[in-house]
Amino acid sequence: MQFAHDTEMALASAAALVNTQANGPRSVEELPDVAALDAFIDEWGWTGARTHDELELAHVRALRPRLREVWSRDKDGVVEVVNDLLARSHALPQLVKHDGWDYHLHATTSDAPLATRMAVEAAMALADVVRSDELERLRVCAADDCEDLLVDLSKNRSRRYCDAGCGNRVNVAAYRARRSADG
Ligand SMILES: [Zn+2]
Ligand SMILES: [Zn+2]
Repeated sequence: MQFAHDTEMALASAAALVNTQANGPRSVEELPDVAALDAFIDEWGWTGARTHDELELAHVRALRPRLREVWSRDKDGVVEVVNDLLARSHALPQLVKHDGWDYHLHATTSDAPLATRMAVEAAMALADVVRSDELERLRVCAADDCEDLLVDLSKNRSRRYCDAGCGNRVNVAAYRARRSADG
């Protein structure tokens, strides 16, 4: 595959974070409170320091529109966002081993605020995407009524729908439309 495994996970995690926002007509806020953030953190295997308060939640939520921008900008625009995220977070790359994972790159210490760590991890992964000239893999779901983001890591670059089941929904709707046209 194109990217290192931790880069792929970081990209998927960044897209999932943005997708917790109420993006389209069918979408609701999925991080309404700290408990929802806790569940997201568990699901995506985030470790490190937490404050479990409203401020932490607010910072994580505020990161989403910034990351979402990346999916809609050209290469220079993406570079601007990535460099800004790294600079604001005072990123300092270092190799670390933890929780059974072999050496991989972190660019913050594990006691940095959660939103900072999320911003930097996403930015480092996006830096890889820019360097390998693969921005076309960052896509918005092709369903008319869905604005969720996806990362197409497929070999033939064929993914068009998000993880929320839009592909099925669109296929079923097209099937029904064909049937009623035949009817
Ligand atoms: Zn790590
Ligand atoms: Zn979708």
